[in-house]
Amino acid sequence: MQKISPKVFLFDMDGVIFDSMPAHARSWHLAFKDEGIEFSEYAVYLQEGATGSKTVNDVFMAQKGRVATQEEIDRIYARKCSYFEKCGEPKPMPVMDKVLNLLLANGKTIGLVTGSGQKSLFTTLNKYYPGIFIPERMVTAFDVKKGKPDPEPYLMGLQKCGVSAGEAVVVENAPMGVQAAKAAGIFTIAVNTGILDRQCLIDAGADVVLDSVSALLEYLSESL
Ligand code: CA
Repeated sequence: MQKISPKVFLFDMDGVIFDSMPAHARSWHLAFKDEGIEFSEYAVYLQEGATGSKTVNDVFMAQKGRVATQEEIDRIYARKCSYFEKCGEPKPMPVMDKVLNLLLANGKTIGLVTGSGQKSLFTTLNKYYPGIFIPERMVTAFDVKKGKPDPEPYLMGLQKCGVSAGEAVVVENAPMGVQAAKAAGIFTIAVNTGILDRQCLIDAGADVVLDSVSALLEYLSESL
C-alpha cells in the first residue's frame, strides 16, 4: 500500500460527511418533474457538486437547447430546496466519525469544501461531528464564484488551511468533485457511496476509488 503523508485532508460534505444524496436526488427529480422535465436520480448523481443554477442550466441546455431564465432557475431551485427540507435533517454517513477521529489521532488537519449553501450547515456539522469542523477551514457556496468542477473551491480550501496542493488529500464522492480536486492538483480519494458506476469516478481522474466508507477507514488505517 502506498504510504501517504499529507498534512491536511479536505472533505466534501454531501455523500461523504452526510448521507444526504438520496434526498438531494429525489428532490431534484421532483422539482423538474413539476416543470414537466424528466431528470432522473442517476442524472442527479452525475451532476452532483455543481451549483443549483448550473444544474438547472445544464438540464435546460440538454433538453430545451437553451439556458434557463433567472426566474426559471429561482423557481426550480426553490422547489428543490422545499422538497429537500421535507426530507428532514441529513443523517451522518456511517463510519465517517471513525475516519475523522483516526485522522485527528494521526495529527492531520481537517477541512471542508462543499458546494452547499444551507444556512444551518455549521450547526448541523457541529451537532454530529462536535469540534471537528471549524468555520476558518470551511469553503461553502457562499465563498466561491464558480462551483465544482472548477478548481476554485479546492484551491480556496488549500489557502484556508495554509498548505500547497502536494500537502493535501481530498475525499470526494462525485465525478465533478473529483474533477475539481484534480484540477487543483490534489491527490484525490473517491468513495463511491451512491448509485453511480465506479468507472465514473475513475474516468473523472480519482487517484484511488473505494466502494464504501468502511473501505476508506481500512485504506487510511494502512496507509497513514
Ligand atoms: Ca458530494
